[in-house]
Amino acid sequence: MGQKYVYLFSEGNGKMRELLGGKGANLAEMTNLGMPVPQGFTITTEVCTQYYADGEAINDEIKSEIMTYVSKMEEITGKKFGDLENPLLVSVRSGARASMPGMMDTILNLGLNDVVVESFAKKTGNPRFAYDSYRRFIQMYSDVVMEVGKAYFEKLIDEMKEKKGVKLDTELDAEDLKELARLFKEEYKLKIGEDFPQNPTDQLMGAIEAVFRSWNNPRAIYYRRMNDIPSSWGTAVNVQAMVFGNMGNTSGTGVAFSRNPATGEQKLYGEFLMNAQGEDVVAGVRTPQTIDQLKEQNPKVYEEFYKIVYTLEKHYRDMQDMEFTIEEGKLYMLQTRNGKRTAAAALKIACDLVDEGMISEEEAVLMIDPKQLDALLHPQFDNEALKQAKPISSGLPASPGAACGQVVFTAEDATNWAVNKGAKVILVRLETSPEDIEGMNYAQGILTVRGGMTSHAAVVARGMGTCCVSGCGDIKINEEAKVFTLGGKEFHEGDYISLDGSTGNIYGEAIKTVAATISGNFDRIMTWADKYRTLKVRTNADTPKDAAQAVSFGAEGIGLCRTEHMFFDSKRISAMREMIVSKTVEQRKTALTKLLPMQREDFEGIYEAMKGFPVTIRFLDPPLHEFLPTEEEDIKELSKEMNLDINELKAIISSLHEFNPMMGHRGCRLAVSYPEIAEMQTTAVIEAAINVKKAHPDWNMVPEIMIPLVGEIKELAYVKGIVDQTAKTVIEKAGVDLKYMVGTMIEIPRAAITADEIAKEAEFFSFGTNDLTQMTFGFSRDDAGSFLGSYYDKKIYENDPFARLDQKGVGKLVKMGAELGRKTRPDIKLGICGEHGGDPSSIEFCHNTGLNYVSCSPFRVPIARLAAAQAAIKSNK
Ligand code: ADP
Ligand code: MG
Ligand code: MG
Repeated sequence: MGQKYVYLFSEGNGKMRELLGGKGANLAEMTNLGMPVPQGFTITTEVCTQYYADGEAINDEIKSEIMTYVSKMEEITGKKFGDLENPLLVSVRSGARASMPGMMDTILNLGLNDVVVESFAKKTGNPRFAYDSYRRFIQMYSDVVMEVGKAYFEKLIDEMKEKKGVKLDTELDAEDLKELARLFKEEYKLKIGEDFPQNPTDQLMGAIEAVFRSWNNPRAIYYRRMNDIPSSWGTAVNVQAMVFGNMGNTSGTGVAFSRNPATGEQKLYGEFLMNAQGEDVVAGVRTPQTIDQLKEQNPKVYEEFYKIVYTLEKHYRDMQDMEFTIEEGKLYMLQTRNGKRTAAAALKIACDLVDEGMISEEEAVLMIDPKQLDALLHPQFDNEALKQAKPISSGLPASPGAACGQVVFTAEDATNWAVNKGAKVILVRLETSPEDIEGMNYAQGILTVRGGMTSHAAVVARGMGTCCVSGCGDIKINEEAKVFTLGGKEFHEGDYISLDGSTGNIYGEAIKTVAATISGNFDRIMTWADKYRTLKVRTNADTPKDAAQAVSFGAEGIGLCRTEHMFFDSKRISAMREMIVSKTVEQRKTALTKLLPMQREDFEGIYEAMKGFPVTIRFLDPPLHEFLPTEEEDIKELSKEMNLDINELKAIISSLHEFNPMMGHRGCRLAVSYPEIAEMQTTAVIEAAINVKKAHPDWNMVPEIMIPLVGEIKELAYVKGIVDQTAKTVIEKAGVDLKYMVGTMIEIPRAAITADEIAKEAEFFSFGTNDLTQMTFGFSRDDAGSFLGSYYDKKIYENDPFARLDQKGVGKLVKMGAELGRKTRPDIKLGICGEHGGDPSSIEFCHNTGLNYVSCSPFRVPIARLAAAQAAIKSNK
């Protein structure tokens, strides 16, 4: 026997996620636990990979194995595919290793056709149910096969309801549903050019292929990129016997969480709908009932369910998200998984589970997705401003946080406004659907008219950490005309509103927001994280304000203080420009003398904010022309200020023009041409340190001077010579004792390759992975955006290498640099200061490479602390 492609639920288990996908593995696990799971089989993720390898086809060997398992299912259930007496109906469900909610479509009631449905109606004595199931099947199958979305079918349903003068889908009768089935099939034939498939085996193969195809739909690709899921994983397919929640009023379907996914509160939480099927609850076709109402309506089922929920939670030792169906009073479990939750809920649940003795501190630390903390580090409403404001209405508090922004009505507009205008937007929709995912990601907040706490909008927003208020039925919206009314007021595109995702309140105005703080459960988790991590976390900060913010978030130093940003200030830019256009060294020195006190003051402020933590200051880095005026007006003014002929000034400016400034006269090359700049910066760094040390004798002041863009040891040796000479003079003049360090950035491939030589001069390395990535790939980080899109589409790259460190190429240079550097200077301090310093997977790489610290923007500091702890815990396991 060759490879095994298919597993019965009873053959698998919860550990087989890679092969069976999350859904399949958990269905198997629940089966093993003796829970009421409709039986079926899982086609492995390897088959998906094989499907693509075979040119998007299921080969004969696999097909025949699938059919063998259909026969096994027929034996188990005592039903037969396509049988008139006792037909086997199945669902075909996708399920990747990592849950991708709403990304791939499920087909229910497969096995029905024009004849089977007739006898099914007779046999069940419930023609309404039979035709409801059939029209749903055609609708889902058509949607998945034709990939045209659900809108057309929903329009037909709406028209039917209107014709019959009813509001709810449950009010349509058997004849109406039969007619809908006919219309759906007609549409299928029109679009596909063939009749709707009547043979259950053809239906099954069509559905399985569609699931495999959906692995590569644009939504799935986008979701994977956002969540670091490789496309090579593939999805599994689950084929499962149907149970029916749409058999009448003693049947129903629902979803539940073992704890509140928004707050983490330890309480069963969920929603259900009677006489409904599949995603009705999530899609918001009717307003669902809460799980507490099930307790009243059917205490026996509730009790059984309750027991299962907490058995599962104990078993998985994590909050569970479950889907269930009740068929004529009998409970079936259809899914369980570790539930998605808001950042606040994640922290509370992790702490509670530790307190309940269910998990260890290390496990609690591993449980939190570092990226999710982002949501807690972002603004909340200013309390005073909130008191002044009066809500105009409210909806469900679906995903917490505060959002203030301009109204847009489509996901595309959300993306456009955010990307092209830099606007903060709030997406207002009747309801959201998976197509909206990109726009939702760009929105500050999401407001929907329909849908409950488990609606698509709510689930996706919680996953993204985006504020969401759902199900505000008071809103009268016209999406096409881009207008809605609420609280007696009309809102158009671009109008400001504010949302409170924690209370559900909606405000018809902009409300001020304030920065977040770390306390409570957050603080507890961070304390545990600090206990386990070995990697230090520093910050990239150029101002005392940013530095103080970072320290409050737990930063242990500055890994990158850029000195150029300070010169763009309107009061300083003219002195800077004067320095640049100087024709003689004397002129340049005069201008630098003006800059010196300002620069010294900057450093004093930063040292003060850092309270004795180490500070790495990088010397001037960008090409000089970036500082020069481009507008005629400004040029005129500068020429007046400098007493310079305007044409001469223009000549100087154009002489500074470079064809490729990124690889031009910048970094240490500036100090090589104009050593006076390095002299001034050294003087400022050292004098500031002396002054601050005077005020705080107990602080350990050892400024770290970092020379950028070094590619050759002699370059560094030259600039270091200037620094040492200057520092010596300043220190001697002050008559004090001050230590300082000189190091370099490793951001040019040649520096990484010759790091053993460079370490002879450099006392520390900081890997500048932004430039290193740019130089290694040979494409500009400012221009890559315009073509990376095609690279993602063609799967040449799955990630933006500027966001996530390319471990294979750039990472190899980092490793090489670290090893060579240590060979020369065993105690050399190694850090990273690119954007990657705040990216969890890159942080793990830094830990494993043995760097001493990562440095990231202030708001990423807690994320980095957690990611560093996770890397340490994982590598100790
Ligand atoms: P998703 O991954 O999008 O949640 P699922 O495969 O879980 O998709 O299917 C969606 C819904 O379809 C389930 O929540 C459940 O209500 C319904 N469903 C799936 N399989 C069955 C089945 N065998 N019997 C009854 N309902 C089913
Ligand atoms: Mg779904
Ligand atoms: Mg599901």
